[in-house]
Amino acid sequence: MNETEKKCAKCGGKTTGYKCDMCGAEAAEHDEKHSCGGGHCVSKCTGCNQAETHCPC
Ligand SMILES: [Zn+2]
Ligand SMILES: [Zn+2]
Ligand SMILES: [Zn+2]
Repeated sequence: MNETEKKCAKCGGKTTGYKCDMCGAEAAEHDEKHSCGGGHCVSKCTGCNQAETHCPC
């Protein structure tokens, strides 16, 4: 399976990299050691460029 091809948890669309749903920091890869906590570094929805937890699509 290709780890980089994840689907947005909200709309099921494509994702591009990762984004923190707390501070908005973006990362190319999941950052388990992110300062807000690895769990906040979630997939970024391609449609809206928001963290998937904030996706309004
Ligand atoms: Zn989405
Ligand atoms: Zn953060
Ligand atoms: Zn979206």
